Amino acid sequence: MAIMQAWNAVVITSADAAAGYPVLTANPAFSRMTGYTLEELQGRSLKMLQGPDTDPQVLARMRTCLSDGHYFEGTATNYRKDGTPYVVRWNISPVRDDHGQITHFVSVQHDMTDYVLSEQRGRLLAKALDSASDPVLLTDATAHIVFANQAFANVTGYSVNELLGQTPAMLRSGEHGEDFYDVLRQELQSGRDFKAIFINRRRDGTLFHFEQNISPLRDESGRVTHYVSVGRDVTSRVKKERDLLQAATLDRLTGLFNRHQGERSLSERYAAAVASGAPLALIMCDIDHFKSINDSFGHPAGDRVIRQVTQVLRGAVRASDPVVRWGGEEFLVVLSDCTMARAKEVAELMRVRVESAEDAQVGRVTLSLGVAALQPQEPLEDFIHRCDQALYQSKRTGRNRVTSG
Ligand code: GH3
Ligand code: MG
Ligand code: MG
Repeated sequence: MAIMQAWNAVVITSADAAAGYPVLTANPAFSRMTGYTLEELQGRSLKMLQGPDTDPQVLARMRTCLSDGHYFEGTATNYRKDGTPYVVRWNISPVRDDHGQITHFVSVQHDMTDYVLSEQRGRLLAKALDSASDPVLLTDATAHIVFANQAFANVTGYSVNELLGQTPAMLRSGEHGEDFYDVLRQELQSGRDFKAIFINRRRDGTLFHFEQNISPLRDESGRVTHYVSVGRDVTSRVKKERDLLQAATLDRLTGLFNRHQGERSLSERYAAAVASGAPLALIMCDIDHFKSINDSFGHPAGDRVIRQVTQVLRGAVRASDPVVRWGGEEFLVVLSDCTMARAKEVAELMRVRVESAEDAQVGRVTLSLGVAALQPQEPLEDFIHRCDQALYQSKRTGRNRVTSG
């Protein structure tokens, strides 16, 4: 009989319901699966395979199919002769004689235990990843999301279902240039891990800084099939670092570069000008009779005047030109690619604007300025000193004026 060699387990029972459908014959695959020899099976009801974890609903459905003469298919836990459980998926077909009477049932059975276990393992892994606090994302080789854990959903504001099937491009904020993603693609294609801080956009539109470690996963032949990414929301850390950097480089009252950062910027601009031969100019300025402003109107009024002067200085130059709070009410402006003639114009503009911007309480405030253009082979200290001297000259000769050094 062909069924004796079938790879699937096959068992044939009688149609005698009252006797519990006793076994007529079974193939070796069925014996292997159940642990019973053919002799032990023959004449007995397969009820002996059932046990405490056998789903009674599946059995009830099977009994109805058998008594109605319908095809049945189902999955349940059965028990081997030695008592070990296995998960079986089986079907039962009625066999009829010439009169349409059911004489036998043929059942083909398949041991699903390994499959169910691996399914369970998969679900267990997904559950473990879901309870992990770090966001985890799994994409296929074409960057489509095949798994995202709950932490990933939480940090992005999307539900897991909204993420599945999409690509991480849905999180792009527009804060990175195309070259950032080019490097990412190159690194991943080369099979290396890639670690970077992404500025991403949440579902609600807000941005977050996301440190991601992306690693390729390979199959047995070494082909990259997936990418796994473990991330961390580093927004607060990045913000703290930025605040610290700001505190270290920017002046609190005016938001201008502080002296330290100003000196660094000046050295950079000086080195660039020396290297390229492009002109470089400086404006140094100081508020006139500022002590008496403080004395007459108080320190807060003095602070306000300093901020007003700051606005004028910033408004007179390009956004890229460093304006530095050089001292209490003394400022340095660094003008790259700027000739002496142009720098004098800028300084004069600053003087006029400060003079004409009357403060409601303090009244008219004036500014003295010195201008200098870098000379060939001039050391930086000499350059600054010349500009300082020009400012001093403006003070000495009556204030509210521009002197070039
Ligand atoms: P001059 O025309 O010669 O410059 O006279 P001046 O009174 O402005 O003299 P000087 O530049 O030496 O005065 C600086 C004063 O600025 C002294 C100091 O009390 C005051 N000052 C420095 N920093 C601040 C600040 O942050 N806020 C206020 N309100 N005053 C400041
Ligand atoms: Mg002053
Ligand atoms: Mg001063």
